[in-house]
Amino acid sequence: MEQTSALFLSVGDIDVDVLIQVDRLPTRDGKVNGSLLRRTPGGMAGNVSVALSRLGARVRILGRIGDDSDGEFALRGLEAAGVDTGFVAHLGGATTFSCIGLLTPDGEKSLVKLMTPAYRPNAEDLSDRVSQGVSHIHLTSVGDPDLCRRVVEAARSVGAGTSLDIELADCPSDASDFFDAICGFDLVFCNSESRQAVDAMLGGRLTEAVRSVVTTLGASGAEVETEGLRFFSPGFAADVVDTTGAGDCFAAACLYGRVVQCYDWSEALRFANRAAALSTTGLGAQSALPTAAQVLESLSHHQM
Ligand code: ADP
Repeated sequence: MEQTSALFLSVGDIDVDVLIQVDRLPTRDGKVNGSLLRRTPGGMAGNVSVALSRLGARVRILGRIGDDSDGEFALRGLEAAGVDTGFVAHLGGATTFSCIGLLTPDGEKSLVKLMTPAYRPNAEDLSDRVSQGVSHIHLTSVGDPDLCRRVVEAARSVGAGTSLDIELADCPSDASDFFDAICGFDLVFCNSESRQAVDAMLGGRLTEAVRSVVTTLGASGAEVETEGLRFFSPGFAADVVDTTGAGDCFAAACLYGRVVQCYDWSEALRFANRAAALSTTGLGAQSALPTAAQVLESLSHHQM
């Protein structure tokens, strides 16, 4: 598929995922045996940028890596996927962010984030130079309210759209901090876990703060609430190997559908559900990311 002129900026975490196979997830005080399946480049911002690039979009990433071999490994993965890494900061003395994934044979999964100062960029890192020429900014962490505000402000100054992925592990605990952080984004992505937490915290004010909210529902699909309307789009069956990063592929495909292809919401959700289902058929977040042609081809076998 031809490269398009829209330029996406993906802001957030770049990491190395360490995927470990276990028979069962450890219980409290429990110990289980595991075997290393794969070390693979990841991070939500990394995954979204690679997924967008694979779909045929132009992508720049703003993030940080440490001064170590993991950082080099993560960076090489992004570059190989065609992502512009010119604004990835190398943090001296810090380790690259890493995420341990425990996977069971029946598809259960637990993640441990190994936090580091290189986890995500800060508001100052998002200079005017970074957002120059950008059509859409996607932020993968709601944990730093200043960075959230800066994304919205930078996007306004260049006429770009904005989206934010709300991950439960990153949510501020104070409801008013949280509300301020999300205010002004055009689009927010939640999974069912983070959506429940957001509703418990904001009591239904999420849709006041942002124009559109997409909630992904695992294998069941996804729904969008926008301008007082709600649409549901069912998921697609897949020969699932690993669901790590399915939400990131979904977000990338939904943005690609809306921004590049100008799809309406039902087309965008269908395209994103199909892309995300395909992404679950490989180990790790990035090994089975589809091209736009592959998504369209497989959708052509599934008439509405
Ligand atoms: P996250 O990965 O962020 O926790 P979800 O689990 O909701 O988010 O998955 C995101 C999207 O990935 C879903 O909306 C769906 O399109 C797709 N997906 C996830 N799990 C499966 C699955 N088992 N089979 C098919 N598609 C899936």
